[in-house]
Amino acid sequence: MNRPRILLVEDEPHIARGLVFNLEEEGYAVTHVVTGEEALQQIKKQLPTLAVLDLMLPGISGLEVCRQLRRADPRLPILILTARSGEKDRVKGLAEGADDYLVKPFSLEEFLLRVRGMLRRSEWYRPPADARQSFGGNQVDLAEGRALTPRGEILLTERETRMLQAFFQREGKVVSRAELLQEVWGMAPDTETRTLDNFIVRLRRYFEADPARPAHFLTVRGRGYKFVKDVTIDG
Ligand code: CA
Repeated sequence: MNRPRILLVEDEPHIARGLVFNLEEEGYAVTHVVTGEEALQQIKKQLPTLAVLDLMLPGISGLEVCRQLRRADPRLPILILTARSGEKDRVKGLAEGADDYLVKPFSLEEFLLRVRGMLRRSEWYRPPADARQSFGGNQVDLAEGRALTPRGEILLTERETRMLQAFFQREGKVVSRAELLQEVWGMAPDTETRTLDNFIVRLRRYFEADPARPAHFLTVRGRGYKFVKDVTIDG
């Protein structure tokens, strides 16, 4: 099993040292960065399993980092750390997509409990049973982010992976456009949806024998889309 990867964004050295030490003791793989800029660089290389984010940072603010982390990964658990006087920041942080917060000073025990709890919840989001799927000559491994198709190997983007997961979890059922936008992009359903259409086109190009006549990623007129694993002959 892979160790959970924790991204810690904290500029105060003594706090960071304590957190890194204890997280590593717990068996997590920790990447510690000091600024928001470094954090954003880091997530381009690899998305963490969970992010711990101090809101008072030099350079770009923790709130902005939070917003961008959330944009990069709608399901990434984000724990924000705030000063006692930072009530407003805390509220804004939660509005920007943070999942939970701790007010400094906090006990290490409480911190570790919070992290453990959030990781447990995040596992609900990503049931491993759905990670691999085979259909129509394609083999998709969501955990690895790659797919083998009759046309060759495809490295899936984060969004493509999320979209496939949304479909695989509801195999044979209609997934509404609103659900896809919410789960894949973290957007309100009334947002511009052309992006979604483009992703559907892309999935069909990857996985359908004839993208113009899809057999697996179906349009359900007026309702959304449906993923069907096995091609059934009607009538
Ligand atoms: Ca700080």
